[in-house]
Amino acid sequence: MKVFAITLGCKVNQYETQATLALLEKNGYQLTDHEADSDIIIINSCTVTGVSDQKVRQTLHRARRLCPGGIIVLTGCMPQAFPEESALLTDADIVVGNSNRSMLPALIQRYLLSRQRIVEIQPHQNGDAFESMQVTDFHERTRAFVKIEDGCNRFCSYCIIPTARGRVRSKPLDELKAEIAALDAAGYREIVLVGINLSAYGQECGLSLCDAVDAVCSAPGISRVRLGSLEPDRMDDATLQRLAAQPKLCPQFHLSLQSGCDATLRRMNRHYTADEYAALCSRLRDIFPGCALTTDVMVGFAGETDGEFQESLAFVRQIAFAKVHVFPYSVRPGTAAAGRSDHVTAAVKEARAHRMLAAAAELRADFLNSQLGLVCDVLFETRCKDGSVMGYTANYTPVHVPTDRDLQNRLLPVRLVSVDGDRCIGELCSGI
Ligand code: SF4
Repeated sequence: MKVFAITLGCKVNQYETQATLALLEKNGYQLTDHEADSDIIIINSCTVTGVSDQKVRQTLHRARRLCPGGIIVLTGCMPQAFPEESALLTDADIVVGNSNRSMLPALIQRYLLSRQRIVEIQPHQNGDAFESMQVTDFHERTRAFVKIEDGCNRFCSYCIIPTARGRVRSKPLDELKAEIAALDAAGYREIVLVGINLSAYGQECGLSLCDAVDAVCSAPGISRVRLGSLEPDRMDDATLQRLAAQPKLCPQFHLSLQSGCDATLRRMNRHYTADEYAALCSRLRDIFPGCALTTDVMVGFAGETDGEFQESLAFVRQIAFAKVHVFPYSVRPGTAAAGRSDHVTAAVKEARAHRMLAAAAELRADFLNSQLGLVCDVLFETRCKDGSVMGYTANYTPVHVPTDRDLQNRLLPVRLVSVDGDRCIGELCSGI
């Protein structure tokens, strides 16, 4: 039987889809890149916003239309966070959450024998172990995502993720080392460490994110280690100094901000102030010269006044991020903020998102222009429609080089000569 997978959401979901496909392949299933050619379609869902839920429903309908006689599997955060609603999505023949994916081969066999719909969503329990998974092949990707942490204990008032993902649990170091050794042997040169709350890695077992970074950096063939999204409140000075001791660590930090206004941060149950966040950014820029700081900002959170939004906008400009992802607040049922009575209107959210995006675009242009004239190592990934070959620098600047040469998976010095939209144009240094 042929299996096709659709991943919605974050890098952790992308990793888990790869792990699920590897498990099914091990159980004798074939993988296909063509949805219409498949017998089984796996939809790995996201539920971080209301729009995500809509996308899951649309993807389910489309899969059923394309594969009327096939087996449709719904898995991931949506069924885990909203089991009752997901059980009613009859386009799916099998519905599982995100804590018992390893049961999928057995569930598919069960369905094939009985043709009875299966809804099997195991609730998260405190003390759950990290679900053991290994990925040694990331399809056509040059960079390999490796999930090392799951769950979150923070309960930011707008966030459904702790419900969808359970409590913090971490991949044991020996499992991580074995997985990295396999990815190294497979020729991967860059590893991206990801988690639901990556900064909390090891919190429950006396380890820290630095232990994981050291373990990955010790792999001889791995040239670069990149960190996924980070929470500011666990990035203390000892952590920064230890990370700085690793020359393979990429100087790019995606530090989730959400708001630059203290009053809004308090309503969000975020445990830092704008000043503390700014101080951390200065420390990072001192310790990692030339690093890129990127972030997520929410606009239109419950109770956000025009003045508070203005404060947040000014703060984003002050930090001068290299990239800003802007999210209009989406009310999630079951979260602390959902029951508030001071929600702002959709029109206000849209207007604020528009203004924050405009600021983000200016900052992005400033950042790309600030890279011009530098000579940076670029890990080349793909050839683009315009014939150029693209890759990223260590601080995650996208670079395109017009060349006919096959440079995939090569790490080469490039001079950045111009900016073209959301990318830099580069030329290979002489003699390369
Ligand atoms: S830290 Fe906050 S925003 Fe991030 S996953 Fe945890 S609860 Fe959600």
